[in-house]
Amino acid sequence: MRCRSSHAADTWHDGVMNTEIITTDVCVAGGGPAGLMLALLLARRGIRVVLLEKHADFLRDFRGDTVHPSTMDLLDELGLGPKIDDLPHRDARRLTVTFADGTFTVADFGRLRAAHPYIRFMPQWHLLNLLAEEGEALDTFTLLRSHEVKDVVRDRGIVTGVRASGPRGELEIRAYLTVAADGRTSVIRDRLGLPLRTFGAPMDVLWFRVSRLPGDTDGLDMRIWAGRVLLGIDRDDYWQIADVIGKDSYAAIRAAGLAAFRSSIVEQSSQFADRVQEITSWDDVKVLSVRVDRLRRWYAPGVLLIGDAAHAMSPIGGVGINLAVQDAVAAARILDEPIRQRRLNSRVLAKVQSRRMFPTVGTQTLQVVIQQAFLRPVLATSKPVKAPLPLRIARRFPALQRIPARIVGVGLRPEHLDR
Ligand SMILES: Cc1cc2nc3c(=O)[nH]c(=O)nc-3n(C[C@H](O)[C@H](O)[C@H](O)COP(=O)(O)OP(=O)(O)OC[C@H]3O[C@@H](n4cnc5c(N)ncnc54)[C@H](O)[C@@H]3O)c2cc1C
Repeated sequence: MRCRSSHAADTWHDGVMNTEIITTDVCVAGGGPAGLMLALLLARRGIRVVLLEKHADFLRDFRGDTVHPSTMDLLDELGLGPKIDDLPHRDARRLTVTFADGTFTVADFGRLRAAHPYIRFMPQWHLLNLLAEEGEALDTFTLLRSHEVKDVVRDRGIVTGVRASGPRGELEIRAYLTVAADGRTSVIRDRLGLPLRTFGAPMDVLWFRVSRLPGDTDGLDMRIWAGRVLLGIDRDDYWQIADVIGKDSYAAIRAAGLAAFRSSIVEQSSQFADRVQEITSWDDVKVLSVRVDRLRRWYAPGVLLIGDAAHAMSPIGGVGINLAVQDAVAAARILDEPIRQRRLNSRVLAKVQSRRMFPTVGTQTLQVVIQQAFLRPVLATSKPVKAPLPLRIARRFPALQRIPARIVGVGLRPEHLDR
């Protein structure tokens, strides 16, 4: 393993297993958008980082697919713009939704004064692979794939690292700072027992794929019908489809059988009539239980939590990746000097939370309002759904379509590498 973090062999208490020990400046748990971005930024600043990812690769399907204008700006700032352009993607300048009374524009990104006035749809693994490759070119960056964090290590109440297991056995990472970027089911959050506020969500999401054929619509296809919302993401030769269903209604949908499920898809979008047979079993359908939650405190002595580990977002607006990346950028900027000068304390960690709390609370509040005021009734009705009044007004005054474009595409507090 090539890295500037130091290694030592230690003996496990029963004298049978060896625990490898690595000492580093920062240990990051989780190689999602938050963890990889933070690790890359700190490693570029000369800080030694060890990143533990429990999977062997980043090939996770049915995950966040959207890269927003403000994240595209950050990738430019990192000098990665040309590389991201070379990866397979689709850019959508408008987000439209089809209701019973027609197709309406929800957000017009083309109206943004931005270098990238569009949402880029790109399988998340391309972005993660790019960040990992950039990091692995640095000798301050160590990515340990197939390494799962099991617990935190504490010394007199301060987190001093993590215990993990990997292909070669047990491992202990000793770090000046530990960062939990291990997602919405964070092990570190669980071990620390940090209190989590949860906000209800009226829906779950079923993900599946069917072929995309010549003559199909392209880009993003979103339909709101009686009791269901269907979102198709064009991935060239197939559609990745999110079927938004009522909370905890999957068991009933499954009990009604695959044939009824296929017919309900065709009812929402007839263009899939000739290929819903490709869903041959429930194994082809992945269920996402939607949750919206947030930590009251994103840190404890020696440890910081960011991204979904600190706040799981509703899928509304597809803003999860953007917020995770922005957390990482703010954290790297605020923590850089204190880590170098070994003057980190809870006040410094609290600065990261207070910087990111406003966009997190603001975005989650908007999401919860949309969930309650709009989605809950849509998912409960059996009648065709017409476009809500704000969308009808925005059709008449298209300049208004810039407002949601700004909130979704840029966010409430866009971050930059140096400010
Ligand atoms: C099905 C689905 C669809 C989504 N669609 C969108 C979308 O279209 N647009 C969007 O912006 N957002 C979307 N999101 C949300 C988005 O994926 C997340 O908000 C975003 O990925 C959060 O990034 P993160 O780095 O904080 O956490 P994650 O992306 O969850 O990354 C956490 C990482 O930690 C690893 N990990 C977990 N536990 C451990 C452990 N114990 N040890 C080591 N590693 C560990 C995981 O394997 C994972 O790689 C979606 C989420 C889901 C689940």
